[in-house]
Amino acid sequence: MDLDADYPEIREAVARICAEFPSPYWRELDAEGAYPTAFVQALSKSGYLAALIPEEHGGAGLPLRAAAVILETIHRCGASAAACHAQMYTMGTLLRHGSAEQKERYLPEIAAGRLRLQAFGVTEPTSGSDTPMLKTRAERRGDKWIVNGQKIWTSRALHSDLMLLLVRTTPIEECSKRSQGLSVLLVDLREARGQGLDIRPIDTMINHNTTEVFISDLEVPAASLIGTEGQGFRYILDGMNAERILLSGEAIGDGRWFIERATAYASERQVFGRPIGQNQGVQFPIARAYAQLEAAELMARKAAALFDAGLPCGPEANMAKLLTSEAAWAAGEACFSTFGGFAFAREYDIERKWRECRLFQTAPISTNMILAFIAQNVLGLPRSY
Ligand SMILES: Cc1cc2nc3c(=O)[nH]c(=O)nc-3n(C[C@H](O)[C@H](O)[C@H](O)COP(=O)(O)OP(=O)(O)OC[C@H]3O[C@@H](n4cnc5c(N)ncnc54)[C@H](O)[C@@H]3O)c2cc1C
Repeated sequence: MDLDADYPEIREAVARICAEFPSPYWRELDAEGAYPTAFVQALSKSGYLAALIPEEHGGAGLPLRAAAVILETIHRCGASAAACHAQMYTMGTLLRHGSAEQKERYLPEIAAGRLRLQAFGVTEPTSGSDTPMLKTRAERRGDKWIVNGQKIWTSRALHSDLMLLLVRTTPIEECSKRSQGLSVLLVDLREARGQGLDIRPIDTMINHNTTEVFISDLEVPAASLIGTEGQGFRYILDGMNAERILLSGEAIGDGRWFIERATAYASERQVFGRPIGQNQGVQFPIARAYAQLEAAELMARKAAALFDAGLPCGPEANMAKLLTSEAAWAAGEACFSTFGGFAFAREYDIERKWRECRLFQTAPISTNMILAFIAQNVLGLPRSY
């Protein structure tokens, strides 16, 4: 395994795009809660958002590791991929389980940036992490599904043309396992909005364009079903390792950004007649976070290597997400303390990045759920739920 900065040409090209969108761009969007349309368009045009779409469908057909490097670079440059990262991994469900006709219809359009598949509706207000308990129901009537229910935290729904929607198609009491009877629908939001589907933004502490989706007697064509009815939970789980590895890339990028900022500031800021970085109380948290980040990156690269080799990687993908999110947070804390009062001033971007970086410990899966997975599925400890 090459342990240096791999894909140097991708890192350089993505950094060049990011340089066109410097800190004031992100700060302004953050203040307004606005979507980074120009940035997403530039990234779509460059083809990097279609990194994982196979060449025969118009994409770049790159390995997952290359896609993780793209996201890492975006975050290392001080930008955020949250507005568009789902275009990379949400598409995987369609690619792996969609029919030939669905793939032919959607993937080339997504690859060309003409169609946005950014929204992914799994979480519901009452079921939370216990996904099989979700209540959104789809009933088959003739050549249509009639959908009723509610989703929460459906990010980017107002900036997407399509949404993958996880619904229950067989009542849980008729299923032998809780995870059965769920199905995935590919909903065309352009047709659905105002016709039984209503999207309302949620005011959050980060600029994430996340929403609540209310669904009432929405009619969806029967042909929108992805794969086999009742297998939806498995399809969603299938995509989760890729998602965890990609988001680990973002967390590493944030961590690197914090370390670089903290190191530079600690070297130049003079208090008591010497650089603050000369004090071990300032140095050590930065050094510790750096070591954590280096170790976490090794796990993320192992997970990606296994994924790209087509090997099982559930434990590694989960551990990568756990370790990178914690290392990035440690780097954020070290950076925040190093900047003292200035960390609170918006013009330094520390507080914005620090807020954004906290999300990795909560979504798409919380730290506790990863620990439960490792304890129960890797170590064989008794199940807690
Ligand atoms: C900004 C943002 C964007 C998001 N985007 C999307 C999206 O695009 N699509 C989507 O479907 N979802 C999205 N989510 C939802 C996200 O995946 C969930 O918030 C996350 O999975 C946790 O679910 P919850 O918030 O319902 O927490 P809950 O399930 O209510 O859990 C609350 C706390 O209790 C802990 N907990 C619960 N049960 C246990 C247990 N058995 N053992 C130990 N600890 C436990 C959890 O770890 C957590 O810390 C997003 C969330 C946020 C905040």
